[in-house]
Amino acid sequence: MSFPISEASPVRFAATLPRRADVVVIGGGIIGVMTAWFLRERGLSVVVCEKGRIAGEQSGRNWGWVRQQGRDPAELPIMVESLSIWKQLALQMGEGLGFRQTGVLYLAKTEREIEGFEAWTEHSRAHQLDTRLLTARETMAMLKGAVAPWKGGLFTPSDARAEPWVAVPALAAAAEEKGVVIRESCAVRGIDLAAGKVAGVVTEAGRIACDQVVVAAGAWSRLFLGHLGIQIPQLSVLASVAATEPMPEIFPGNAADDDFAFRRRADGGYSIAPGARHDFFIGRDAFASLGVYLPVLKKDFRSTNFRPAAPKGFPDAWGTPRRWSLDRTSPFERQRILNPAPNRATLAEVQDSFAKAFPVLGRPKLKAAWAGMIDSLPDVVPIVDHAPIPGLTIATGMSGHGFGIGPGMGRVVADLVMGRPTGHDLSRFRLSRFGDGSPIQPGPSL
Ligand SMILES: Cc1cc2nc3c(=O)[nH]c(=O)nc-3n(C[C@H](O)[C@H](O)[C@H](O)COP(=O)(O)OP(=O)(O)OC[C@H]3O[C@@H](n4cnc5c(N)ncnc54)[C@H](O)[C@@H]3O)c2cc1C
Repeated sequence: MSFPISEASPVRFAATLPRRADVVVIGGGIIGVMTAWFLRERGLSVVVCEKGRIAGEQSGRNWGWVRQQGRDPAELPIMVESLSIWKQLALQMGEGLGFRQTGVLYLAKTEREIEGFEAWTEHSRAHQLDTRLLTARETMAMLKGAVAPWKGGLFTPSDARAEPWVAVPALAAAAEEKGVVIRESCAVRGIDLAAGKVAGVVTEAGRIACDQVVVAAGAWSRLFLGHLGIQIPQLSVLASVAATEPMPEIFPGNAADDDFAFRRRADGGYSIAPGARHDFFIGRDAFASLGVYLPVLKKDFRSTNFRPAAPKGFPDAWGTPRRWSLDRTSPFERQRILNPAPNRATLAEVQDSFAKAFPVLGRPKLKAAWAGMIDSLPDVVPIVDHAPIPGLTIATGMSGHGFGIGPGMGRVVADLVMGRPTGHDLSRFRLSRFGDGSPIQPGPSL
């Protein structure tokens, strides 16, 4: 089986577009859906335009970890809020989200990793989290049948998991019930400006007049914003994932070392993935941003499979046009869902590592395998800021950890759009950091 949401999936959200709305949100991932949710709760009329299907890209393809542990200190307070929103949502929506607070466990093979864990506990203490460092013996006691040489662990029991490709469409359906207008198969080609301000969006299904637009376009944001003359150094990496057949429970939550990561699924299997390995397609944007990515590249070089070109139509494919006319088919309609093939060799290594660590289970049998394009920024934290064009807000570059923080970030972005206090310091997420000579300071890659 491959990924369950595709262009062949029936369109579930097919609202008629209004001629006017207070806010148009571009992108039906968790950030767009939750931003729309909170804007609507605050009384605004909101339209979400999704070029493919809700949760068809990253928001449905991710591991499903809802974690505070290991976060950048600037993200952590938003994540703490996000977890409390997840809990309320789970209470309101019942089993539909697959939400469970079963903890996140990081596994260390070296003293150096343990030092990194220890350093991060400074942040967990600042937010009174229940994070604790585990000895080797405590770590092994948490994982039934484990024989791997782990020297210790970092565990946050209040961290959680949810089922991405079920949860995000369920949240979208609940947002629709609140009055958010959602339309799938509806690419936004560009923004209509009047006197230098946002006046509307041009979609493939017509124009919507509005004063406010939120770009929550995931891996497509750089392409979309570049057309408006706003440059962001966003790049994407391919991450492969697999779902195993049901198997006995060895750990109820989410755990990872640098070889492999696993998360208990609601269907009784595990989602498994490489702990650090990913594939990177070289394209024009990659060349243009090489310098700014050097700090992360140095760290990730050995865990990256470099590939010469992205599949046709991907945002940074060699042939993807950077300019287009708003009255013609745009690159967003030509590639409705980024659906890269998973790296089977990497997944086979994960099956081997898993079997070696848990010999009682044997080599896990896979019932599905897929991949997603993770959109990232050089310092591995997002851009959440107003753009230089009045009426335009950017919420993108969640850098591999936007699922868990999605509900909290949606609340923050909604208040940012409305000019209300967001309750958090967003200076680390400012757009200008990539152009004002600020040093690039990558967040923790724990
Ligand atoms: C394999 C993998 C594992 C991950 N694991 C985790 C995890 O365990 N925990 C965690 O917190 N995060 C995880 N992440 C990261 C997380 O999935 C993302 O950070 C998050 O989903 C980003 O949400 P988003 O709404 O910004 O983007 P997306 O989910 O990518 O949504 C953007 C949407 O915008 C649409 N779009 C783009 N351009 C246009 C346009 N012009 N018009 C209309 N629509 C448009 C796209 O079709 C897309 O659906 C993982 C990601 C991957 C790929």
